Amino acid sequence: MASRPRTTYPARRRRPSTFLVGAVLVVASAGAAAGVRADREPWQTPDPTPAPVTATPSPTGTPTPTPTPTPSATKPAEPVNDWSYGNTAAWPATCKGNSQSPMPLRHTDADVVKPGSVSSLLAPAMALSLTATPSHAGTVALLCKGDCGEIRVGGKPHAIKNMHWHTPSEHTIDGRRTAAELHIVSFAADGKIAVMSALFDQGTVNPLVENTLDAMEDMADLSTTAEDIKAHFFSGADVGCGVYKGSLTTPPCTEGLSWVVTTKIGSMSRRQLRHLQALNGGHENARPLQEPYGRSIEWLEVNFAGSRSARAGA
Ligand SMILES: [Zn+2]
Repeated sequence: MASRPRTTYPARRRRPSTFLVGAVLVVASAGAAAGVRADREPWQTPDPTPAPVTATPSPTGTPTPTPTPTPSATKPAEPVNDWSYGNTAAWPATCKGNSQSPMPLRHTDADVVKPGSVSSLLAPAMALSLTATPSHAGTVALLCKGDCGEIRVGGKPHAIKNMHWHTPSEHTIDGRRTAAELHIVSFAADGKIAVMSALFDQGTVNPLVENTLDAMEDMADLSTTAEDIKAHFFSGADVGCGVYKGSLTTPPCTEGLSWVVTTKIGSMSRRQLRHLQALNGGHENARPLQEPYGRSIEWLEVNFAGSRSARAGA
């Protein structure tokens, strides 16, 4: 955290980097003081809002600061985000199950193929209103404020709770890894998690990615519409996708998630990719591929006509 790569990034706009570093540290410290579980990202729980840090009121009603415990009276602190992409072998035992993500997405004869598209999973009124928040090891996630719309997976509505990025992509499709991957994480009423994933390669400037980068750079809010999300994150949304059961791709690697990965690759510019990686801590943040262990994929295909050959249009 002390030497954030953000300061070495050729910023699109000039701003005092020390202010941002300070702001991130302050917010991160507040999160730790508020008792956010250290081994879990704020977006990995259905309600990521940490409890406010409050002073204890005195009998007269005048707030007095909560006394700082001496080291000897302090419980041993939980490890603070003590995992890294440089040593995934040391991730906790919960990350060693048989349904882990990301898994390589390959078309095989065992797969189910049926008509459908990303659009059929996105609620028509979906609009994101998210706030940039420090996440693991200098990365930035965007957390939902209030109602951020929903997606429908397995016939069940899932409320969107956060959005974050990986560079390069975590999933591969038929052996192809792309430059970046977007994850939109959502929770059903029963606590089940579904993640919508979109893959991006280097290409033309993506206007919605630009808005996202601005919000992440400034630790500010992002508001956008269903139309923009479909157009710029999901390549028009009239595109196919692969659906499978997997896990969170960071500790605690909780299993039982529904993954929805789009099969049409979006684009963003080289500058946007570099900016995104800088905001991701300046290092790659993609977990290695995990063994499928016989899991199959359900492919939704736009032009599916009852034959596997229709897949070419996805
Ligand atoms: Zn992710």
